[in-house]
Amino acid sequence: MHAPPAPAPETLTREELEAEVRRLRAQSASLAQMFEQAPSFIALLSGPEHRFALTNAAYQQAIDNRDVIGSTVAEALPEAAVQGYVALLDAVYRTGTPHRATGARFDVQPVPGGPVKERYLDFVYQPITDAHGTVSGIFVEGHDVTERTLAEVALRENEARYRTLFESIEVGFCIVALKFEDDRAVDYRIVEANPAFVRQTGADVAGQWVSAFAPDLERHWFDTYGRVALTGEPAHFEHYADVFGRWFDVRALRTGDPAAHRVAIFFSDITERRRVEKRAEAGERELRLIADALPVLISFIGEDHVYRFVNKAYDDWFSVPADGIVGRDVRDLLGPDAYAARKPFMDRALGGEAVTFELDWPRRDGRHRVAEVRYLPRRTREGGVDGFHVFVHDVTARKQTEAELERQVAARTAERDQVWQASSDLLCVANLDGYFVSLNPAWSRALGWTEAEMKARPFLDFVHPDDIEPTVAAAGGLARGEAQLTFENRYRRRDGGYLWLSWNAVPRDGLIYASVRDVTEARRQAEILAKTEEALRQSQKMEAVGQLTGGLAHDFNNLLAGISGSLELMQTRMSQGRIGDLDRYMTVAQGAARRAAALTHRLLAFSRRQTLDPKPVNVNRLVKDMEELVRRTVGPSIHLEAVGLAGLWPALIDPGQLENALLNLCINARDAMPDGGRITIETANKWVDDAGGRQHELPPGQYLSVCVTDTGTGMAPDLVGKVFEPFFTTKPIGEGTGLGLSMVYGFARQSGGQVRIYSEVGQGTTVCLYLPRHYGEADEEDVARRLAEVGRAEQGETVLIVDDEPSVRMLVTEVLEDLGYTAIEAADSVAGLKVLQSDVRIDLLVTDVGLPGGMNGRQMADAGRERRPDLKVLFITGYAENAVLGNGYLRPGMQVLTKPFVLETLASRIKELIADR
Ligand code: ADP
Ligand code: MG
Repeated sequence: MHAPPAPAPETLTREELEAEVRRLRAQSASLAQMFEQAPSFIALLSGPEHRFALTNAAYQQAIDNRDVIGSTVAEALPEAAVQGYVALLDAVYRTGTPHRATGARFDVQPVPGGPVKERYLDFVYQPITDAHGTVSGIFVEGHDVTERTLAEVALRENEARYRTLFESIEVGFCIVALKFEDDRAVDYRIVEANPAFVRQTGADVAGQWVSAFAPDLERHWFDTYGRVALTGEPAHFEHYADVFGRWFDVRALRTGDPAAHRVAIFFSDITERRRVEKRAEAGERELRLIADALPVLISFIGEDHVYRFVNKAYDDWFSVPADGIVGRDVRDLLGPDAYAARKPFMDRALGGEAVTFELDWPRRDGRHRVAEVRYLPRRTREGGVDGFHVFVHDVTARKQTEAELERQVAARTAERDQVWQASSDLLCVANLDGYFVSLNPAWSRALGWTEAEMKARPFLDFVHPDDIEPTVAAAGGLARGEAQLTFENRYRRRDGGYLWLSWNAVPRDGLIYASVRDVTEARRQAEILAKTEEALRQSQKMEAVGQLTGGLAHDFNNLLAGISGSLELMQTRMSQGRIGDLDRYMTVAQGAARRAAALTHRLLAFSRRQTLDPKPVNVNRLVKDMEELVRRTVGPSIHLEAVGLAGLWPALIDPGQLENALLNLCINARDAMPDGGRITIETANKWVDDAGGRQHELPPGQYLSVCVTDTGTGMAPDLVGKVFEPFFTTKPIGEGTGLGLSMVYGFARQSGGQVRIYSEVGQGTTVCLYLPRHYGEADEEDVARRLAEVGRAEQGETVLIVDDEPSVRMLVTEVLEDLGYTAIEAADSVAGLKVLQSDVRIDLLVTDVGLPGGMNGRQMADAGRERRPDLKVLFITGYAENAVLGNGYLRPGMQVLTKPFVLETLASRIKELIADR
């Protein structure tokens, strides 16, 4: 194929020629324009030395508009030669092979030694060949990609920074992919995990399925992450992971494509924070124990007149139990009259003033009582008052003592006056200037001078000339504050004679008080003075007692403020996440608590009694009711077991105090087992004989024991000898008060019992409380008495009903009595069996299957049949205890009734069984 030959020029007309020239010019102009305006840079280099033949505007701009046409690259762009680009051009020229570069760095330096511009270029060096195939030049074309390249670098750096962060943060982080079965997450794989996560889990678990490294992980984790993956709602929670034995704060959010079921998880180990929180709680509890142990009303009333805190003493003072008082309004609790009496003082306290006043506050039984009430405002950090603490003491006894004292003082004063006037002893007061200030009438009687005459002259005027010198010396001694107790001199009488006087002189407040006697009467008068002084000392001591008690309450308030302030700060810090500061506040609070405890101890020592409220107590029930509290206090790493002896005697004690004591013992046990262990609380009946009584310092008799055993550090024998001392503690400052065991000891002794410690280092400790048995309306005696009655009555049929649930016994008894039967009740298998083994007439046994006392109903019935082979039995049971009852195969004469039942059914079954002879 050949293009038609262009018409020969000579054949063109002139017009045609001109048009062709115009066309060519236009074409070349547009080409030049294209070349000039091309967005890529273009240059044409000719010859082996790469001389610039042509550059476009973009190229010129790239090299900072240097004049390069006609120069070689090496001359025009020296920095290109330095950076190796000329060598590259040489290679292209020599080999004829093009060279392409992407993102090549080229530092442009328009002025040698001047500033450098960092550029990145994509370019091609394309060799140009002539008609013979020989390279004659190089075509350079390219783009400036500096901006793109820098952006990429920044991105890479950013990514590196995030990676560093991700690798170095303390928070565990991982991405997991969940596996679902029927909409339920059943497993997950750790797609990616940072080092902190790996540290917390203790193994490199990246890429693994959780079922492989933590097979026992609780369902909670799967369910929570499953929910996040399905709903896309983030989760934030704190949870205890059994498998790791740690607490975690966890945040989880869905990431990536919802269908991929991926969840990003942040983990922080907060075990330490939880521990601090627990300790703060324990501190508060300890404070509560102390406040409750005080024989003083302590409360806090808010500015709205509502009780916020009351201690246990309120139980004694009010007919409402203390826990019913918190949240109530003062006026509502005390009634309008009592409120009106207190209102002005409350207003003053809320105005920031500490007020003290006394009130008649009759006891609940109407007996007279005087109360000293203190309101101490509590200041907020901003300086306002948000309520006040109340301290109320029973000062009846003190008042009586004071009144008695006043009476005595008055009597003494009168007596002294009488002595002064009527005494045959010479009594006087003199000043240090050497004059008498006052003299009693005995002086006139003894010396003959009137009082006025003696006061008018210096006393030396009356002194025998030979005695002046020693008298001056003695007066000098008095002026220096030295008493003169045996000094003697002679005084002149009005009639000129002299009397030997023995001076008993004391300086006080710039005066000299003297009792003077003639030698014969000296001894008697000295005695009177000594007695007077003793009485004075005694009265001062009584006053000190009163002041001290008041002062203690004030100190106590300050300490409470320290403690509650610290607790508040801890709360604030915790909400700010500043856990590191907590220990400091903890130490402050516990230090104050210790000092408060010390004060308490002194208060108790003063009052020398702790109000005990003993009543018959079922100790097993008390222990059972406390189990949950104890378990929460000692934490999950300690296994708690309570073993209550069936048939435990009741004890006559203050139940609140026993709770305190047990809690203290369990806290001690926990402290002795920092790495976990086991606490056992056990009850038992004990007979203490004469020898045992001597050994345990107890009267012989019947006691029950409550023992708390731990598997902790134990105590060496010399330590055991010290632990009951108040304030003895081996715990670091701020952790122990040293009051726990002394409280336990005080309680046991005041209750007529004893405490004993059995401990072995490294093995553990048992602390046993022995408490006196209460001989009251115990179940056992009840049964015995009823047996006696039944024996006498000897009429009608008799049914024995055994059930530990009193309401069931009552119900059945009522039905039986309606039917005209006699009922005997027993609450457990031991008591029941006793009746069955006696001679009492029993026509039918009605019994529960699950029974306390070591035997179930079936076993008891079988044991009863050994003696009464024909005994008829009706089991009443809450659930089908088939195995116990022999899988439905009951022996003849035995029947089952399932609870709940209609009373008529019960009645007809009983009639039926008894009638069936
Ligand atoms: P605190 O517990 O405040 O130290 P306590 O009076 O309760 O005061 O106990 C006094 C000391 O007796 C403790 O510091 C501890 O040394 C020791 N102790 C008490 N109970 C136990 C126990 N179960 N195991 C080991 N040591 C104990
Ligand atoms: Mg303790």
